[in-house]
Amino acid sequence: MNELNTYDVAIVGGGLAGLCLSIQLSRSGFNVILFEKEKFPFHKVCGEYISFECWNFLEELGVPLSDWNPPHIRHLEVTSPSGSLIRHKLSLGGFGISRYKLDAYLAALARKSGATLLENTRVDNIWFSESHFHIQYGSNMCKAKLASGTFGKKSNLDIKLKRKFALKKPAKINNYIGVKYHIKTDFPAEFIALHNFEDGYCGISKVEGDKYCLCYLTTAQNLQRCNNSVKELEQKILRKNPHLDKIFSNAEFLFDTPETIAQISFEKKAQIEHHLLMIGDAAGVIAPLCGNGMSMAMHGSKIAFTQIVPFLQGKISREEMETEYQSEWDGRFKRRLAAGRIIQGLFGRGWVTNWFIRILHPFPKLVEKLIRQTHGEPF
Ligand SMILES: Cc1cc2nc3c(=O)[nH]c(=O)nc-3n(C[C@H](O)[C@H](O)[C@H](O)COP(=O)(O)OP(=O)(O)OC[C@H]3O[C@@H](n4cnc5c(N)ncnc54)[C@H](O)[C@@H]3O)c2cc1C
Repeated sequence: MNELNTYDVAIVGGGLAGLCLSIQLSRSGFNVILFEKEKFPFHKVCGEYISFECWNFLEELGVPLSDWNPPHIRHLEVTSPSGSLIRHKLSLGGFGISRYKLDAYLAALARKSGATLLENTRVDNIWFSESHFHIQYGSNMCKAKLASGTFGKKSNLDIKLKRKFALKKPAKINNYIGVKYHIKTDFPAEFIALHNFEDGYCGISKVEGDKYCLCYLTTAQNLQRCNNSVKELEQKILRKNPHLDKIFSNAEFLFDTPETIAQISFEKKAQIEHHLLMIGDAAGVIAPLCGNGMSMAMHGSKIAFTQIVPFLQGKISREEMETEYQSEWDGRFKRRLAAGRIIQGLFGRGWVTNWFIRILHPFPKLVEKLIRQTHGEPF
């Protein structure tokens, strides 16, 4: 092994949580290394609807959102598997940008801020001893005073670190799959649609150019019932919803093959493991129908940053930093994740969703209340 440099902070995973944390820390003068196993730019399974909660935060980091002028999404349309529909005005709403564009821009900002960004580099192991983290990647090693796990909903490191949720046997809660396409379709730019089907739901909303993101979540069991064929799943299950049938018949699909991810788990996770501060999906995955996971990943990076700085400056101990981070994380996100789990449980089951939509139809205030449970304030 080649033991290389020692850094103030090592960040494992260059998604939104990792990129935003690396920018904030580098700009404050700390020596940061960030590992990402893929090469930017790249597509990622995600609905690409970003809550307005994080608009100011992204602009402060240097993302020129006002110049990009992304579609502003102010209305939600929900359909049941049989096609009944409700529409609702979103009080806060969101905007649409592809991960391909946003993550690559943040990666460039991270480099410009002085972070060492290693792309195409998977971390194979990480452990804490003698008050430092030791990070192994290929035949290389480095050390850091502090490390953060921003490696998303599923990583080789979950097993390596023997995280409880990753060692559980497959069950409905920890075995979902996600599929994503970019498409061209006829749909109002200010709307996001959430079309339900048996054991899953599919979001559609506009991103940059004339593209829309179509992204769905369903159980691994649903895919198995369709001979593990995404095409068959779409034909036999998704297209039973008349709205999805119309989209799959008329839209132009821009990817040769969809982006997919398997083994998505909504189990509770620990936010600190072996002194690693977990942020974003690595700390807890919110049900995608809440449209809030990206904003939580970025907000989590801001909370972690606030605790990491006094630790690195020697003003608080590691234990104090961890306790503060945990308490802030719980205060901001614990209830949202629980609410998301409950709402997700109500969707996707044929008669439950039909019934739920009929009940909600005359009560817009109730819809608003449900949405509020899964969202926070701008940060
Ligand atoms: C189907 C679906 C639809 C969704 N739709 C939305 C939506 O519309 N709006 C919304 O706000 N949220 C949505 N989400 C959630 C959102 O995508 C996530 O919450 C968000 O991406 C979390 O960011 P992150 O930085 O924690 O993780 P990620 O963005 O997943 O980044 C983690 C990174 O770590 C890297 N990595 C993993 N292991 C290693 C390793 N060992 N070494 C180096 N790198 C590693 C990965 O390659 C990855 O790039 C959706 C999720 C799903 C599944």
